[in-house]
Amino acid sequence: MRDEKDCRKRAQKTQNINEFCPFLRQKLSESFYIEPRMSSYRIFYSPYYYADIGEGHVFPIKKFELVRDKLLAEGTLQNDEISEPQPAKIEGLLLIHTEDYITRLVDGTLTAKEVRKLGLPWTKSLVQRSFLAVSGTINASFHALETGFSSNLAGGTHHAFPDRGEGFCVLNDVAVAVRVLQKEKLATRFLIVDCDVHQGNGTAFIFKDEEEVFTFSMHGAKNYPLFKEKSNLDIELPDRTSDAEYLEILNEALPRVFLHNPDIIFYLGGADPFEKDKLGRLGLTMQGLRQRDETVLEFAKRREVPIVTVMSGGYALDINDTVEIHCNTIRAVKKIFAKTQNAFV
Ligand SMILES: [Zn+2]
Repeated sequence: MRDEKDCRKRAQKTQNINEFCPFLRQKLSESFYIEPRMSSYRIFYSPYYYADIGEGHVFPIKKFELVRDKLLAEGTLQNDEISEPQPAKIEGLLLIHTEDYITRLVDGTLTAKEVRKLGLPWTKSLVQRSFLAVSGTINASFHALETGFSSNLAGGTHHAFPDRGEGFCVLNDVAVAVRVLQKEKLATRFLIVDCDVHQGNGTAFIFKDEEEVFTFSMHGAKNYPLFKEKSNLDIELPDRTSDAEYLEILNEALPRVFLHNPDIIFYLGGADPFEKDKLGRLGLTMQGLRQRDETVLEFAKRREVPIVTVMSGGYALDINDTVEIHCNTIRAVKKIFAKTQNAFV
């Protein structure tokens, strides 16, 4: 159980957190927190995470809906655990992105070169899905601060820079969520654990001079992006890295990055380190990737740090493999935080 002293310390650090966080508010008033729902898990998803990007595109845009459907059908998720986000507000996006970029993105006046770099055709539905996915991550971060864990069934678009999109990433959802939490004084120290197979170059660039935000990226050395930014900790992996090698490196790195003493963790559980991924180059199996998820989640739970899971990439030859890997992340959340009304009590 998280003790009162620790709660007070967190509340002092974040000043007005008790206005936003029922968990801390209850703790501070020395009463018991009783969660009225059967489960405190909240996952954010919208049917409009889908966008029309044309048939045959390498980006598996149908995966969001397929993951949701599979988790509901098998009973891992209940309907009342799913919340639909509203599109992120422009003011929130402007905490990270430039006004010029957001204006031209909304108006559909990005240059042909910018659209090429983004790797997705501009459509209104693409803009809408990007706004919604950012909101999903912001909402999941609020919820994680209350209960200890939450997920967005999208997000992790870590190649987006303040003034441009890249590599299928229009907006940097995690970066915007960090800024919103900072602005609302809900958290001060952040850890981003990026296990997508591609370096989180946009995120690394955005937070390169910010001591409070620790960026950790574990990625393929020979993978996109060709020119990598500098995270606080980058671990470059050789082609065909196996489960055992990957997990050993991850287990060695996590205690080091947790020394940052974060108030919240954003975990990008990319499906693309998978051995059958078209853009992956690594050699992880489905079981290895599930162990990866469980390793990160268990670390967060043991240290009582709220964690938000976001999807990021996945380009398996068979889309069902990508869907299964993303489902495994949510199954791991359920397993590790099972029967937990609140991760801190
Ligand atoms: Zn990726």
